[in-house]
Amino acid sequence: MSLDIQKIRSDFPVLSQTVYGKPLVYFDNGATTQKPRVVIDKLTKLYTEQYSSIHRGVHFLSEQATEMYENARKTVQTYINAEYSQEIIFTSGATGSINAVAFSFGEKYVKENDEIIVSGMEHHSNIVPWQMLCERKKAKLKVIPLNDTGELIIEEYKKLLNPRTKIVAVNHVSNALGTINPVKEIIEIAHAANVPVLIDGAQAIQHMKVDVKELDCDFYVFSGHKVYGPTGIGVLYGKQKLLYNMPPYQGGGDMVDCVTFEQTTYNELPFKFEAGTSNFVSAIGLGTALDYLNSLNLEKIASYEHEILEYATKKLQKIEGLRIYGNARQKIAILSFLVDNIHPYDMGMILDKMGIAVRTGTHCTQPLMDRFEIEGTIRASIVFYNTFEEIDKLAEGILRAKTMLS
Ligand code: PMP
Repeated sequence: MSLDIQKIRSDFPVLSQTVYGKPLVYFDNGATTQKPRVVIDKLTKLYTEQYSSIHRGVHFLSEQATEMYENARKTVQTYINAEYSQEIIFTSGATGSINAVAFSFGEKYVKENDEIIVSGMEHHSNIVPWQMLCERKKAKLKVIPLNDTGELIIEEYKKLLNPRTKIVAVNHVSNALGTINPVKEIIEIAHAANVPVLIDGAQAIQHMKVDVKELDCDFYVFSGHKVYGPTGIGVLYGKQKLLYNMPPYQGGGDMVDCVTFEQTTYNELPFKFEAGTSNFVSAIGLGTALDYLNSLNLEKIASYEHEILEYATKKLQKIEGLRIYGNARQKIAILSFLVDNIHPYDMGMILDKMGIAVRTGTHCTQPLMDRFEIEGTIRASIVFYNTFEEIDKLAEGILRAKTMLS
């Protein structure tokens, strides 16, 4: 049986509203996804009945919250097929996770003249932490180039790897182009050179089955808010052996074993990397979101989203003067485009007045925009609660905006 989209839409209360008197058409899912009722209800219940700080309490509420938090960790573990639950570290988001690795792994293993490889289609969050590390350590950042369709050039990547390379950090899916990168191949190539790989899965986890064991990635990161969960929570998966040998990057409560003024010893994994009161409410909410996705079936989601991408691509390609950026063979349902000489912001403003929410600008990928010699794009990022009728509305909206602005 295929997905019942109307039923699914009724799970997301926000979708039934109108904006400027028009039914909301939400195509800003790449920035953040809407929340299903089960997640909202779980958060309400947590704050109204079940709230108490985790880990340090002996009383009922604290123990209950601790159990729910640790269960959420296990849900994430199962969701990405990690070997051990202590390989799942809760952070503030994908950005928080990447910074954690850049600080902790970087502090220990990166030295002067070492090299770090990223790709030309990274989000700023997977560029700047490495740049900052390079500055601290006098190391160098190397960049895998991409071709005009928006695919990484693997032959060029191979040439970048050398004995000075300390880590490769690439995204699984590009937030600006929709490209699904061949991460398994990228990882195999790096491993043949004994280099660990961090995969930024911020735009992949909500669209496809991710299996960290199958990928054999060393680190995998994502944000809760892009996978139908709450804001302020993210995941850092790391292979146990690597995490075990990495120093903590933040000090404080919960990450310690024993503290004296002379010396502090650290807690075991995963707590060594979770300093302070963690965002346990959002972590539990993330667990609920992943349970919800499991109940829908990720394969059905991926297949529906692929169908809608094909429909939308064909529909938009018919619009004269519309250019799509990101035409990779393997894509998720993201359409980044420009129309004639119209500024993305102007197009976005007009679509907004029709109730259509898109994102405009650089999408936090300025170097990628420079690669295509553009200032930015209009981005419609589509998920399973979007409909074919909404794609028709988008196409009509673009045509109307084009008439008004050309
Ligand atoms: N990487 C990618 C590919 C992203 O799309 C984003 C968010 N747009 C991030 C990292 C950063 O995510 P967050 O802001 O949730 O930390």
